[in-house]
Amino acid sequence: MEENERTKGFGNSICQAAKKFWKSALKLLGFTRDSRYVKNYIVEANIRSAAYMAAVIVVLEVWLMFYQYTKSGGLLDCFALPADNPSHQEPGFDSFFLYCSNFVLFLLIGASLFVYCTTYRMEDRKKRLILNVVFASLSFIWGWFIFYENHLGVLKWTGSTPEKAVANTIKSSLLIALYTVSMLTSIAVVVENLFTYFRKRVSIRLSMSVIILFALMCLTFGFKVSYGDYISSNPKQMICFFTMTIYVVCLLIWRPYISVLMNTAIFVGFYQLLTHASLPDSTVSVFILKDGDFVNYTTFVISLTMVCISIYHQRYNEAIKDEELEYLANYDELTGLNNYQYFTRMVGQAVSSPDYSEANNILLFINISNFKNFNDQRGFTLGNVFLRDVGALVVKHFPGSIVCRQGDDHFVVFTTTEGHMDRLKGLNQDVKALDSEIAPEIKIGSYHLRPNEDSRNAADKARYACSTIGQNLTIHYMEYDKKMHEGFHLMQYVIQNIDKAIAEGWIRPYYQPVVWSNDAKLCGVEALARWIDPDRGLLPPGAFIGTLEMTKLIHKLDTAIVDHVCRDLRYCIDNNLPVVSVSLNFSRVDFEVMDVVQVLEDIVVKKYNIPKDLLHVEITESALADSESVLAKSIRAIKEHGYRLWLDDFGSGYSSLNVLKDYDFDVLKIDMKFLSGFSSRPKAKPLIAAVVSMAEKLGMHTVCEGVETDEQKEFLAVASCERLQGYLFGKPIPFEELQERIKKGEFTVSKNLS
Ligand code: C2E
Ligand code: CA
Ligand code: CA
Repeated sequence: MEENERTKGFGNSICQAAKKFWKSALKLLGFTRDSRYVKNYIVEANIRSAAYMAAVIVVLEVWLMFYQYTKSGGLLDCFALPADNPSHQEPGFDSFFLYCSNFVLFLLIGASLFVYCTTYRMEDRKKRLILNVVFASLSFIWGWFIFYENHLGVLKWTGSTPEKAVANTIKSSLLIALYTVSMLTSIAVVVENLFTYFRKRVSIRLSMSVIILFALMCLTFGFKVSYGDYISSNPKQMICFFTMTIYVVCLLIWRPYISVLMNTAIFVGFYQLLTHASLPDSTVSVFILKDGDFVNYTTFVISLTMVCISIYHQRYNEAIKDEELEYLANYDELTGLNNYQYFTRMVGQAVSSPDYSEANNILLFINISNFKNFNDQRGFTLGNVFLRDVGALVVKHFPGSIVCRQGDDHFVVFTTTEGHMDRLKGLNQDVKALDSEIAPEIKIGSYHLRPNEDSRNAADKARYACSTIGQNLTIHYMEYDKKMHEGFHLMQYVIQNIDKAIAEGWIRPYYQPVVWSNDAKLCGVEALARWIDPDRGLLPPGAFIGTLEMTKLIHKLDTAIVDHVCRDLRYCIDNNLPVVSVSLNFSRVDFEVMDVVQVLEDIVVKKYNIPKDLLHVEITESALADSESVLAKSIRAIKEHGYRLWLDDFGSGYSSLNVLKDYDFDVLKIDMKFLSGFSSRPKAKPLIAAVVSMAEKLGMHTVCEGVETDEQKEFLAVASCERLQGYLFGKPIPFEELQERIKKGEFTVSKNLS
């Protein structure tokens, strides 16, 4: 039994090894199913190579014509043969035609190919078409002309001996093949151009056929010249065959199996021609193919094929790498949808098209309204799965539209207005159905772009429209209208002027008192940002915090506030003024874009040398959804570095209790929502009392914010909530005013600040 199992296992591994080998062999030979990107990449690489080849041909032909011209010191003086010599020809067009007509043909076809390759990516398809038709027609006409006018006359199908007849027939056939392929190349160039012009896309097959015909023409030329020379008394030019083979197969790269087949066929074909050729008596016996030559020729072909395979795989790997890079540049890794850069580019193109209609197209900004909640309850990994599912649903409901994930839980869609409301309804239902318990919903802001309007600005407007819905549960859709201009412009103003506002000192902290509940003495202050704008006056945080968080610029503000607070503290310390501890607010986004601990260390310790226990870091519980994230680590680090950690807005989100389990807070700040309807709701008091006693049991201190009445104050004192903050004790005020009021005795600074 065991023996049997072992044999089976052995058999299996042999089988697997064979499969692996087979797979690698297929890959080595190029039997792979490639993406359109990879195919295009290889075709384009070939087009570039063909451009070099064409350039070489043009230069070569010009050089050859010049060579013919100078050979005898005058315009084709027929090698200065005396006039009575039968080979003598008069200088002039006829003799030029006789000696140079093929050079002209190659020159023209080379030029036509060069134009084709260099205009391959040209945006202006019409111009490209005209250019290519002109050049391709010239080479076609010339090919046709020499085919009829001259070379029909030089074609020979018979000979003095049967061998000569065969040789002449082969030579004539090769010449006909050469002209035919050259004309076909011109035709292919025109057809490919017409296709791209009318279909507005490139065809890999047509582009390849141009290149294949071009390559075929070069090979036929190599065959013809080398064979012709071999059977004449001047076999020197045998090298033409090798040159052309190397030229074609090494510059133009096909899949390895095609290279193998092609090289073998070229070689066998040519070798057979040579072995069966009858050589004139004058040809030295040294040129007759011998046994040893076969070995040399075979080695040549194998080496050449290996070079082709190696170049192919190099290009292939480049293509794959490029494809990955392009993917990263255009796609969103999480959802596989396009990314925002791609979106704005595409929308930009759409709205600049002459047939764009403002009324029939719309940009939708989709926000998942309770995604934070979803993340809190289900965790980050499932949150990602959820976003991916939503992305797929957006694509399903808006097929053929430009769809992207803008970041976070935001999606943007550029689509037609045809039934878009119904589709959004369907999308909302499907999104809701993804989790029937949480029932996530979408909120949509929309905007009609004007022709040529900046697509980023338009997406911002749609987003702004969406943001105006806020927490309203009954509204799901908001179209941007003129009334929103002011709010939108304020948002734009904030984004554009945040740096200036910080630099000019328009942003500064206002301080709100925090007092002990037992003696109402000042134990600290909370620093709350204010933007005092020279034109717009005092802006409350509601006017800028949300915008700065949304655009991930909030860290600039928070860093500036920390700096300002420390400067104020330093001033107090240096001037022997009363000092109180200060609470600082940090946003979740801060932790994503900067190292908060490092910033604190740099400013608090290095720059101002302030005792760390004077600073309290407030973090709202909604920022703490995921305990495994980088954010979690840096929050723990804050405490480890000696700063006091306060949990802000406790009880306003969904993850409150979990957060208590995962982090080690010094102080728990009870959200002001608990106090709303304090006297009318009977459950408010026991709830607050329970929270305070729970905090106590967990070893945390408590502070309650939003205290506005004496009744609240008294209750909280009895419930042993240690600290209080609210309008009852003071609104947020500037530093100077705070100092003034302390001086006047309106606030008594407690000795206990911890
Ligand atoms: P928050 O951290 O919960 O701050 C408390 C807010 O409640 C402050 O509003 C304060 O003025 C207000 N408040 C205090 N006592 C009472 C009261 O008795 N009754 C009422 N109705 N309100 C009271 P503010 O200054 O408008 O700040 C709003 C929010 O903006 C803050 O909420 C905080 O989340 C954010 N914020 C303010 N400054 C900053 C900052 O520097 N950085 C960051 N990241 N966020 C800030
Ligand atoms: Ca706060
Ligand atoms: Ca708060």
